[in-house]
Amino acid sequence: MERNDVIIIGTGPAGLSAAITLKMRRKNILLLGPGSLSHKIEKAQKIDNYPGLPGISGEGMQKKFLEHIKSMDIEITEDKVNAVYSMGEYFAVQGHKSSYEAATVILAAGMYVDKPFDGELENLGRGVSYCATCDAALYNGKSAIVIAYSRDDESEAEFLAQRADKVYYIPMYGETAISGGNIDVISGRQPGRIERRDDGICLIDGEWEITADGIFILREQVAPSQLVPGLEVSEGHVNVDRQAGTNIKGLFACGDITGAPYQYIKAAGEGNVAALSAVRYLAQRMCSVKEAN
Ligand SMILES: Cc1cc2nc3c(=O)[nH]c(=O)nc-3n(C[C@H](O)[C@H](O)[C@H](O)COP(=O)(O)OP(=O)(O)OC[C@H]3O[C@@H](n4cnc5c(N)ncnc54)[C@H](O)[C@@H]3O)c2cc1C
Repeated sequence: MERNDVIIIGTGPAGLSAAITLKMRRKNILLLGPGSLSHKIEKAQKIDNYPGLPGISGEGMQKKFLEHIKSMDIEITEDKVNAVYSMGEYFAVQGHKSSYEAATVILAAGMYVDKPFDGELENLGRGVSYCATCDAALYNGKSAIVIAYSRDDESEAEFLAQRADKVYYIPMYGETAISGGNIDVISGRQPGRIERRDDGICLIDGEWEITADGIFILREQVAPSQLVPGLEVSEGHVNVDRQAGTNIKGLFACGDITGAPYQYIKAAGEGNVAALSAVRYLAQRMCSVKEAN
């Protein structure tokens, strides 16, 4: 497997800024996230506080950002990261589509807002999972519930349905075009609680409930502490020092994920700091390898 210098997780202003700085420093980078960039860029109506772009629309800013990275030959690898593991000398990054490796990682995945369902965290790895493509093979001949927050999740549920006997698909975003003979679409539900029972794992919404062998929750984001085992967080935000360093050596974080203020320019600025810290970290590593030889 190719080992990158830096993997950047997130295609918002923080991740893009980090990617631009690292590209200028001639680092070998892998930028993971949606190719259409953070939806928080596109959704803004009018942005008045970004220097040089007064009054620009979110769509206008999205176009400018895309043009900028294209002009620098920065590519986006469209994948959602499920977990980041520090292996000592390098990081192993598990995406929904593939696995990746890098000497350092920059976490620029934005603010995590969703509250977990009651019973979700207790049953994580015991019937509850966040990646249907990763675990599909375990569902041969079994049943699964998929709670999906975006149309992009439909292909993941369809993939799961190729293995599972039955998939109950709960779209939390409105109309769905998902298809497949063994997929039951269940609309209009607001799941509240997850319970493990003798006959499987149960999703409950008031009086209504459904039981299956597993539940996949496909949110846009995974809580930082779930994403990176051992990562120190306070009130949902990653703890960082002024150089964007976390408690894990070689792992940096920037943007909304590190806390307020939630602003484009703060995210972009921190992306730059994280990138330069990653550059320094790579240089120090190189020196210690040379000294050891
Ligand atoms: C409607 C709206 C209007 C706003 N207007 C303004 C404004 O006028 N001025 C201003 O300064 N700020 C504004 N903001 C705030 C601004 O959008 C955020 O502060 C900024 O986008 C944060 O950038 P970020 O890169 O840290 O995170 P985000 O923009 O949230 O980007 C995070 C990226 O990480 C990706 N990601 C998340 N998890 C994973 C994963 N597991 N694997 C791969 N990728 C992942 C996401 O898909 C996304 O691409 C607005 C926000 C909203 C919602």
